[in-house]
Amino acid sequence: MTDAAPLPPSRLFFQSRVRRPRMAKAEGVYVWDQQGRRYLDGSSGAMVSNIGHSDPRVLDAMRRQMEQGTFGYRLHFETEAAERLADMTCALAPEGFEKVFFVSGGSEAVEGAIKLARQWAWATEQRSRWKVISRTPSYHGSTLGALALSGYRPLTEPFEAMMRPMPKVPAPRAWLDGLPMDDPATGAHYAAMLEAKILEEGPETVLAFIQEPVGGASTGALVPPAGYMEAVREICTRHGVLLIHDEVMSGGGRTGRFWGGDNWNAAPDLIAVSKGYGAGYAPLGAVTAHDRIVQPVLASGGFPHGHTYAGNPLACAAGVAVLEVIEQDGLLANASRIGEVLKARLQALAQRFPFIGDVRGLGLLLAFEMVSDRETRAPLPKNLDAYERLVDLAYAEGLIVYSRRSRGTEGDHILVCPPMISTEAHVDEIIEKLTTALTR
Ligand code: PMP
Repeated sequence: MTDAAPLPPSRLFFQSRVRRPRMAKAEGVYVWDQQGRRYLDGSSGAMVSNIGHSDPRVLDAMRRQMEQGTFGYRLHFETEAAERLADMTCALAPEGFEKVFFVSGGSEAVEGAIKLARQWAWATEQRSRWKVISRTPSYHGSTLGALALSGYRPLTEPFEAMMRPMPKVPAPRAWLDGLPMDDPATGAHYAAMLEAKILEEGPETVLAFIQEPVGGASTGALVPPAGYMEAVREICTRHGVLLIHDEVMSGGGRTGRFWGGDNWNAAPDLIAVSKGYGAGYAPLGAVTAHDRIVQPVLASGGFPHGHTYAGNPLACAAGVAVLEVIEQDGLLANASRIGEVLKARLQALAQRFPFIGDVRGLGLLLAFEMVSDRETRAPLPKNLDAYERLVDLAYAEGLIVYSRRSRGTEGDHILVCPPMISTEAHVDEIIEKLTTALTR
């Protein structure tokens, strides 16, 4: 390891709030900087690098595709890679999901899902349906359409004049609200708020409800309480409201099932996926939907929506190889198994550090929330910025974790989401480095 020379000024903005070292190499669960320091990628980037970095099978598949051609415009040529990825995605999707379209990221996937939903309403003469109800807090993306669904006022407020803010309902944060997770009455309580909102808005104006099956950055690995997912499904069906699952973060296997929603018997009507779907090898996302949504749209002349890079063969070849690695290496089962081990170790940390108020999540989509009082669940003082400080302390130990405010503008949570290839030895290393950071 050599001492870090000062970095030259950067012309990039939207970077980290502090200068971070330059990346030199990444392999498996580790990333190295140019000074030779090694970091355990304990958040898989932003919950992206699910199968770890530089898997040679994915690199080979991409190399082969590059040699055949890096781009074929979808209106001019079909490609093997896009057709294969579509087949594999539909095979993984719920019953009746027969078609897919590709995008290059999570915001585009959410944007595409809500536009497809609206196109369905248009095609089926339900043109009064346009509102998409979402939850607070939530994050669904940075484009204006996806931002309108995002339940986080500091991000959305400057742009409200340029978009139509959409109705919101509270996310089912049972722990925060002091309700029992395993009592179906808790799930029914939050689902009833959705139904009340649909009735208040007028069901004939409501197009869809969008939610993350297991919450990501905005709620910190929020797992819905018993009964919630089934009740939401039933309410949406009864009011003719489409159910959209934002699987941008929870999809791709991280929860131990390929789709986060597969942990319940409550299939959605549309799914948006990205992040772990391309697993950091290529900018890639997808929208898939049940045929009862897609067929009326196709019958009425199709869906005039798309992006130039949609379905580009290089990204799709990477996607195919990623799905093959998940299957070949049994990574869903490993995410479940190692997720249990890591969650138990995080719970043990909560015994030791009284400011850890809640440990939650499924598989390797895990988080803990920090509080000043575990009984009242009162947050740490806002100006402590504990979530950012802990990230920096862990970084100094060579551990990358991901943090956010957990209650809108206050509260602190840390997501611990290493790649699905992680082993018990990696869990030991994460816990050791985290313990040092928490002690500091
Ligand atoms: N939806 C969810 C649930 C997300 O976590 C994110 C990104 N954090 C997005 C959408 C937007 O994805 P992207 O940043 O790839 O546009």
